[in-house]
Amino acid sequence: MEHLPVDLFFIHHTSEQSCTDPAHCIKIVQGIQNYHIEHNGWWDIGYSFLVGEDGNVYEGRGWKRVGAHTYGFNSRSLALSFIGNFENRVPNEKALNAAKALLQCGVQKGYLNPSYRLYGHRDALPTECPGTSLYNLINTWPHYSTIPLRKSQ
Ligand SMILES: [Zn+2]
Repeated sequence: MEHLPVDLFFIHHTSEQSCTDPAHCIKIVQGIQNYHIEHNGWWDIGYSFLVGEDGNVYEGRGWKRVGAHTYGFNSRSLALSFIGNFENRVPNEKALNAAKALLQCGVQKGYLNPSYRLYGHRDALPTECPGTSLYNLINTWPHYSTIPLRKSQ
C-alpha cells in the first residue's frame, strides 16, 4: 500500500451466486481466487476482503497489500466485495453487519482513516458493480462520499 491509513474504501459485489453457509462461501471464494490467478494472471484474489451472507468476512489481500479491484485507485484504497448479485436485492443483515464491523475494525487498527470516504465501484468506473440495490443502500451509509473521485494513475 502506498501509505496507511488509506482514505478511500470501495464496495463491490461478485455479481454471481450468493452463499449462506461457510462451506459454500469458501468454495465461491476459492473459485474467484483461482479465476483471478489463472485467468487474470494476478498473484492473488483481487479484493482486499469478501463478505458472505453466512456472516463471515473472507480475507483476500487484506489490509496491507495493494489490491486489484478498482482500476486507477488500487494503490490508495481498500475494498470489499459482497458475495452475490445485488442488482435487485440488498445483502442480508448478517452480511451487512459483518461489512460494517470490518470497516470499524479497519479504523480501529489504523488501516483506514477515521474520516475515510466510502464509494461504490461504479463511482470510479463505468460498471454495474456493486448492483443498484446495494449501491442505493451504501449511499445512506455515514461514510458514503459524493466528492468526485480523481484518478492518480
Ligand atoms: Zn466491482
